[in-house]
Amino acid sequence: MPSINSAYASLSSSYLFSEIARRVRAFQHANPEKEIISLGIGDVSQPLVPAVIEALHKAADEMGHSETFRGYGPEQGYAFLRDAILEHDFRSRGIALDADEIFISDGAKSDVGNFQEMFGTDAVIALTDPVYPVYVDSNAMSGRCGEFKDGRWSRIIYLPCTAENGFEPALPEHRPDVIYLCSPNNPTGTVLSRTALERWVAYARENDAFLLFDAAYECFVSDPDQPRSIFEIEGADEVAVEFRSLSKTAGFTGMRCAYTVVPKKLKARADDGTMLSLHDMWLRRQSTKYNGCPYIVQRAAEAVFSPAGQAQIAHVLNIYRGNARNMLRGLDLMGLAAYGGIHSPYVWLKTPGGMTSWDFFDLLLQNAAVVCTPGAGFGASGEGYVRMTAFNSPENTLKALARLKSLL
Ligand code: PLP
Repeated sequence: MPSINSAYASLSSSYLFSEIARRVRAFQHANPEKEIISLGIGDVSQPLVPAVIEALHKAADEMGHSETFRGYGPEQGYAFLRDAILEHDFRSRGIALDADEIFISDGAKSDVGNFQEMFGTDAVIALTDPVYPVYVDSNAMSGRCGEFKDGRWSRIIYLPCTAENGFEPALPEHRPDVIYLCSPNNPTGTVLSRTALERWVAYARENDAFLLFDAAYECFVSDPDQPRSIFEIEGADEVAVEFRSLSKTAGFTGMRCAYTVVPKKLKARADDGTMLSLHDMWLRRQSTKYNGCPYIVQRAAEAVFSPAGQAQIAHVLNIYRGNARNMLRGLDLMGLAAYGGIHSPYVWLKTPGGMTSWDFFDLLLQNAAVVCTPGAGFGASGEGYVRMTAFNSPENTLKALARLKSLL
């Protein structure tokens, strides 16, 4: 029998969303007449915009003619898409990057999950708590996290984000090698200010650490003074990698297209002391293990950055923003403490009466047929909170709020 990667043995078997799905299935089975409204899993509900559909059709037609057919594409992504991203997301905000520092992929989940391969198994990881579970589990799978005891990994540095510290993590007491930051944050829905990002970039530079900055929700930032990219902070291109995604920006959760920026200035020390370029390592990794995002998806992604695409996605994003506003207002009127939801599709709700996250989840499911996500599933500091998302339709969001109001 072959030996296995025993790091998998220490992973908890029930992934948060599978457990939620199991409880929802059981409830639906016992109550087939009840209409469940999900404010739980972070998937979008609005369809792709017309500019994207048009580009998809056109690209699909091209694939049917020998003159325009495309086979394997460049592993880093087609130049037409990288150039569109460079112009729209970075140059327009005064950020100087080269197109070949952008890597197109099939999702920020794959990229944030895979990027830890660039670091040694002895690298020390710091994470905010609560946190998007992929950062933790992907490191655990590589055997980098130590022992899992009482809900925490022994080699991870946890940076609690709570109402008391305004959901802004304090700098670590002990130096980590790699720090994951996510802003706007999943799950708390809060954003790191420019000052906070400057503090993190300065810390990483002084301490020879890397920042892995997850900007999957940057499209929800509506304050023009608020950074939407870590590269708006001076010196970040020497210490940071940024993950971005079209999943929530343009409803691409089922299409799969994201992009990661790995600046060429990022250097890491190998065991023998030589300095390696993280950009070259990631290129090597991607060209070995990945064959690129489909041509038709990249053409559809390009259309997101066209003037028509931008106007159309703005309309969709405003629907979600409206839902989040209604949630914040409605929860406030019910006397509940809710955070986030302003530059984010996520509202982070404090459970009433000191209930645990899972007890509140069950209360809502059983009595209001509303699904939320228990905060404890995102880490120990998420206990006593639930996450609600603004991705359902406006009608369902209002209906869910009305049910909550009559329940509470
Ligand atoms: N990063 C964060 C913080 C997320 O919440 C998600 C998805 O929910 C992702 C990354 C994954 O995005 P993608 O759909 O591009 O894989």
